[in-house]
Amino acid sequence: MAGWRVLDPIAAAIVGFMVARMGRTFGWDALQDLSDRALDLAETDKLRVLLTSTPGVRDVHELRTRKMGDLAIVDAHILVDPLISVSEGHYIAESARARLLRNTRVFDALIHVDPENDQINPPPGRMPTRSAVDDAVSALLGAHGLTYNALNLHYLSSGFDIDVTLPADLSDD
Ligand SMILES: [Zn+2]
Repeated sequence: MAGWRVLDPIAAAIVGFMVARMGRTFGWDALQDLSDRALDLAETDKLRVLLTSTPGVRDVHELRTRKMGDLAIVDAHILVDPLISVSEGHYIAESARARLLRNTRVFDALIHVDPENDQINPPPGRMPTRSAVDDAVSALLGAHGLTYNALNLHYLSSGFDIDVTLPADLSDD
């Protein structure tokens, strides 16, 4: 209207460029949400703190998140005292999972319990099975006319430990 007709297509080109750029940004984000993507680092660090602050958890590794729309599925390895019972390890893992689920972004979580950091200490290779240990210990004790009440086996990278619980009514011999 002012007589500068050339400004019309220039303004149209600028607006067109802005619309195209916005479309590309939204399109890319939507595409990322449809494919597998992890939560951002700040969000992942919050989850790590939730796990490490759980009583009984010594450390966390292999913390992985996978976004499902706005929510995320989490899986993690927690390190616990290697000599506690299976039920205590399970209790600690369930407590850690419950803490994660309190975060509104977490849809589900799978917690794996490690007696040792398996990134540093690979799981021990060939170790005797419980039935082999049972046979050996029973034979040794049997030679002295003894039996046992319980066997507790610890498969660790530092070695293979066997706890033998004897009946309480044994004499000191
Ligand atoms: Zn692990």
